[in-house]
Amino acid sequence: MFNDGRSKRVLFLAHCLLNQNAISDGTAVCPASYRELLRVLLDAEVGILQMPCPELCCLGLDRGDPRGGERPVTVENSRIRRSLGESPARERLDALAKDVIRQILEYHRHGFAVLGIVGVNRSPSCGVDTTSDQDLELPGKGLFLEALSQRLAEEKLTVPLLGLRGPEEAAEAIRALLP
Ligand code: SF4
Repeated sequence: MFNDGRSKRVLFLAHCLLNQNAISDGTAVCPASYRELLRVLLDAEVGILQMPCPELCCLGLDRGDPRGGERPVTVENSRIRRSLGESPARERLDALAKDVIRQILEYHRHGFAVLGIVGVNRSPSCGVDTTSDQDLELPGKGLFLEALSQRLAEEKLTVPLLGLRGPEEAAEAIRALLP
């Protein structure tokens, strides 16, 4: 089944790695996509799945500048994390995570290689190794990655997680997930 032209290899990427337009005001590091990261994945014939941006979907595009801008840093950063944890954003975030897991399960069920989930360290939502709260980078996952991890554990499914910090190291780091 599915023995056609496809590679049967897929990778789930945090939304903003492909679309920096979604990121919080003041934090975009390039005009649109992590170009070198994309080149590596295109060359490796990996299907690229863009996960939804939980903050855009749950809080909107104008959710403040976590690095300060005109508003105090600590207020914005703690607000994003706190707001995501409150209803109705929390329910929306859980629904987004559930939908990503549904896709992962489908690929897995049909024998595709799900190479990993790639998040963004320090993010209150998509951090893998570190997250942040009140302008402090802390060990642990962001709320969206936490929800994904919990659901993967419930499904007894192991999918590698990778947290990136920026476009400079992304292309090299992503090779660790490739066959
Ligand atoms: S790290 Fe996650 S929540 Fe933040 S902009 Fe990227 S996709 Fe959206």
